[in-house]
Formats: sequence, C-alpha cells, structure tokens
Amino acid sequence: MSFPPSSQQIAVLGGGITGLTAAWHLQHAGFVPVVFEISARIGGAIGALRRDGWLHELGPNSLLEGSPEVTALIDEIGLGPRRLYAAPAAKRRYIVRAGRPVEMPTSPFAFITTPLFSWRTKLGLLGEPWRPRGVADRDESVADFVLRRLGREFLDYAINPFVGGVYAGDPTLLSVRHAFPKLHALEQEHGSLIRGAIKRRNTSGGPAGRMFSFPEGLGELPAALAQALGPALRLRHAVRQVRRTSAGWAVEFETGTGHTVESFTAVVCALPADALAALAFANVPGAEGLRSLSKIKHPPVCSVFTGYRRADVRHPLDGFGMLVPQIEERPLLGTLFSSTLFPERAPAGCVGLTSFVGGMRQPELARLDDEHLLRLVHTELGRLLGVHGEPVFTHVQRWPRAIPQYTLGYHRFKDAMAAVEASAPGLFFGGNCRDGISLANCIAAGGRLAAEAGAQVRGTAR
Ligand SMILES: Cc1cc2nc3c(=O)[nH]c(=O)nc-3n(C[C@H](O)[C@H](O)[C@H](O)COP(=O)(O)OP(=O)(O)OC[C@H]3O[C@@H](n4cnc5c(N)ncnc54)[C@H](O)[C@@H]3O)c2cc1C
Repeated sequence: MSFPPSSQQIAVLGGGITGLTAAWHLQHAGFVPVVFEISARIGGAIGALRRDGWLHELGPNSLLEGSPEVTALIDEIGLGPRRLYAAPAAKRRYIVRAGRPVEMPTSPFAFITTPLFSWRTKLGLLGEPWRPRGVADRDESVADFVLRRLGREFLDYAINPFVGGVYAGDPTLLSVRHAFPKLHALEQEHGSLIRGAIKRRNTSGGPAGRMFSFPEGLGELPAALAQALGPALRLRHAVRQVRRTSAGWAVEFETGTGHTVESFTAVVCALPADALAALAFANVPGAEGLRSLSKIKHPPVCSVFTGYRRADVRHPLDGFGMLVPQIEERPLLGTLFSSTLFPERAPAGCVGLTSFVGGMRQPELARLDDEHLLRLVHTELGRLLGVHGEPVFTHVQRWPRAIPQYTLGYHRFKDAMAAVEASAPGLFFGGNCRDGISLANCIAAGGRLAAEAGAQVRGTAR
C-alpha cells in the first residue's frame, strides 16, 4: 500500500539554519514537517540588533556564496534580489604583526613584497610542491599539517589567526581532516596545496564564492524560511525525549503548560551537540553513545560592537577586518570593519566595528562583565586602529558555547551519530556538530537531511 507523501509527518528538532532548511525542503517535497524550537526565536546562532541606524550582527556576519545549495535556497526562497554582496573594499584583509595591521597579500607580487613574512618563509614556500604527502588516514592537527607543509611563520601569521577567526579555535587542537576537509583533500589528491589550488582554480572556471548578507542582516534568511513554514514552526517547544514505537516515532516536548507527545514517521535532529547529548532516547540501540557529544569543546566568545564617529578613527578601515595571531599576545581574536563590509550598518558619518573576544585562546576574557569587556576592546582598538574618541554606540553579545571544535579524534562523535542512524531507520542527525560549522555547510546539511528522511519515509510507505 502506498501513502501520499503529504500524509507523512516528519519532526525536525531545532530551529537553527540546519533545521529550518531541512523543514523547508521537506515541505517542498510534499511532506508535513513540524519544527520544534526551544527558544522564543528562530535562527539559532543567526540574529541581528538594529537600533538608531546601527546594525550589530550578533552571530555570523556573512555567508559564502559558491555552493549550489546556498544559491538555490536563496533564490527559491525569494531572497535573491535582497542579496547584499560585501563591498569591493572588503577584499583587503589585515593581520596584526608587531602591533600594527599589515595587509594580507592576495597576489604573487604582493606576497613577494609583503612585510608579513620573512624571506625565509617566502622562499620556503617554493619547496611546498615537493614536500611528501601526509599519511592518508592519520588524524593530524592543523598546526602539525601547516608546519609540515608551510613552516612556522606561516602557521603563526596566517593559519593561526585564520583559525581564530573561523573557529575561535586553536590549530594545535583542531584536526585538519575534520576542521578543514578541503585542505586535507587538496594534499591527498594533488600531493601539494599549491599545485592543488592552481589545478582547482583552472578546472573550476568561475570566480571563487563571494561573501554576502542582506540589508537587515543574515536573519532575513531564517525569517523567510519561517514565513514559508508558517504553522509548521513551533517556538518555545523544548524536545525532551525521542522514542521509537511500532508505528514510527514519538516525540515528547514541553511547552510551559506541560508535556505532550506526538507521533511522526521520521525525526530529523538539527540540535547543538550539548542538546543532542542531553536528549533522552527510548528503544534506540546505541543511543547512549550520543552522551559522548557533551565532550565536544565549545569555547565562549563575545561579539562586541562599537560604533565611532568616522573622524575618531585614524585607520582607513579599507577592508574586511583584521585578525590577531596568538603569538602577538593581544586580547582580541579579530575585528570586522562591519560598516565597510556592508553599507547601512552605521549612521552617516560613523563607523561600526565588530570585535571578537575569548575563544579557545582566552576563554576567561569572554567572561568579563560588559563594562570591562567594552573598555578592553576600546583600548585595543585605540592601539591597533588609532581610535581616539569614545564610542557613540556599543552592544555586547555573549555566546557561552559558540562553535564546536573539530578536535583530534572527532571521528568518534561522527561515528556515534552514524551508529545510531544505522540502528534506527527514520532517525537522522545533522548540523554544525556533524556537517561543518559554516552556514553554507549547515544549509547543505539541511538539504541532505531532508533528502535522506524523505527517501526513507517514501521507502517505508511503499
Ligand atoms: C559568534 C559566531 C560567529 C559566526 N560567524 C560565522 C560566519 O560569519 N559565517 C558562517 O558561515 N558561520 C558563522 N558561524 C557559525 C554558524 O553561525 C553556525 O555554525 C550555524 O548557524 C549553526 O546552525 P545550526 O542550525 O546547525 O545550529 P544552531 O544555530 O545552534 O541551531 C540549533 C537550534 O536548536 C535549538 N534547540 C536546542 N535544544 C533544543 C531542544 N531540546 N528542543 C528544541 N530546540 C532546541 C536551539 O535553540 C537552536 O535554535 C558563527 C557562529 C558564531 C556563534
């Protein structure tokens, strides 16, 4: 007997970008998704504060175009015309060296002339294509990988600040194959990062993906998805238990007025690692293995927005922002030149800067109170960017558990999720603790989850 797909209810746990994307794809395929979100707002890590002409992007600041999943979602949800590309000036990126921002080289000529790296490092790079390939299945740290292929100075002044900017992480702890799978694949496939990058550029044709956002910030994307989902989206619904039944799945949730249980044909979990580790499962073999996900490190990060009069900042702010290497021993991970990156993030005659504090490097700084944090950031911006007037606007956003760290041995967490999926058809896991931390990764994960859950439900209905 065959059921029409529209009669198939699928529970989606978590209303972050992964869960919303999964639910939206399911809805489009004719299923009936129900999204359970514990908080009063959608979007998870995505959100912005708009006040008095300022816009503070509280979590992620930009989305990278370049994957078909991202382009298709933005266009199909109707946000294509609202896409706001990063300003051309934002191509320039700075790295702090010896207490001042130095432009990161983006061409071979700029690399030869940059003061960011010594001649030894520059000449050493010529030997990279001839260095032996690493052992394929060895779990190697990002730091060891870079030391082996590119040398110490490249690790200290390029990769360390980059890892601080992307993961708020520590390259000595992160696994290259899990945290940067494309980099790992480049070496494995081509024997060299340089050779691989050149080959990829020649074969991929078009330009590399561009950064973009929307006029009111990235929150426009979850808002559009939520609007399309309508009543399928249930806020303030905390999922407590997922139980396998003879007919499918029972999801138990709490709404403030009590506990309720509803039945579904499949369950898609798009929860943060700690929430997944804490979730109760019944009749699911191997589910106790998911408890280990509570061990995934998530350092605290503060996103500190400071607005200044343009005349009070000496630096031209002609770029994306600056990243701070750990070796410089300063209290910032980096600062985005937010009002250069996207227009209308600061009132006329003013500039907005978003600084990141904490991470694996200095978690204690992310626990400072607002007053100390703002003073710390303001003083540091004074030293690095020549800020010499008091801020005219400030806002602090705290992320006590910011970004999952794909550390050495991370395969055990992925294996735990895969083992439960294999033992319990109809249960699916995805999101930033499994599929990669970028928004593009999470959007792709949402598509994957919807396709797998949809295929499973159609298969069992046949
Ligand atoms: C400060 C910061 C800056 C970042 N910058 C960038 C950037 O510039 N570019 C980029 O690509 N990425 C960036 N990222 C990473 C990216 O934003 C995240 O990896 C991504 O948004 C995670 O999406 P998700 O849906 O997987 O998880 P989440 O956004 O964490 O969503 C999970 C949802 O599950 C809900 N939930 C939890 N428990 C339950 C429960 N029991 N029942 C129901 N619901 C529950 C949560 O409330 C949450 O809404 C940044 C992240 C942070 C924190």
